[in-house]
Amino acid sequence: MINLILFGPPGSGKGTQAKKLVDKYNLLHISTGDLFRYEMGNDTPLGKEAKSYIEKGALVPDSVTVGMLKNKVDANPDVAGYIFDGFPRTIAQAEALNALLEEKEQTISRLLALKVEDEEIIKRILERGKTSGRSDDNDRSIIQNRIDVYNQETSPVFDFYAQFNKSISIEGMGDIDTIFDRLDKEVSSI
Ligand code: AMP
Repeated sequence: MINLILFGPPGSGKGTQAKKLVDKYNLLHISTGDLFRYEMGNDTPLGKEAKSYIEKGALVPDSVTVGMLKNKVDANPDVAGYIFDGFPRTIAQAEALNALLEEKEQTISRLLALKVEDEEIIKRILERGKTSGRSDDNDRSIIQNRIDVYNQETSPVFDFYAQFNKSISIEGMGDIDTIFDRLDKEVSSI
């Protein structure tokens, strides 16, 4: 199995690239952001809880996020592998993911981190906000908060996997196909 973490700040192109990797490698794409938006759209208790954090650009608590992720993984055991997009976002989530995969005698193959400059991120998210219908894509202060949370809480996850020589930094500036080729070069060598 190939289990990938697609990593990087909000707006770095994780969702776009995950879809292209799914097409090529037939992996299951699990985006915790998409899962939360689905729950919010259906106004479930989980969606209602997540909404209060997402609207502020804050992280949903680990216990809630890990429980939701685990349900999704457990419900899809017969896959060629997983692409985790937007998860793990904290060290505690990374530890929980390790434990979950270990139970299944699996492991993370690579963490691929897309590197994109802050100015470009803000530009991309505001552009996406014109059509995404996401309130967290339309407000500069919320976007800035998401970037700050990424720098403080999420970026240490890169070092966590670097201890096991699994973290790879990928240039995330440029056109979509060029960035995909950079990612694909790493995935095809696993
Ligand atoms: P995303 O679509 O990945 O940008 O996620 C949108 C929002 O959902 C984030 O700003 C967080 O509020 C929440 N979220 C998504 N994934 C996680 C996660 N792994 N841990 C905590 N909150 C998350």
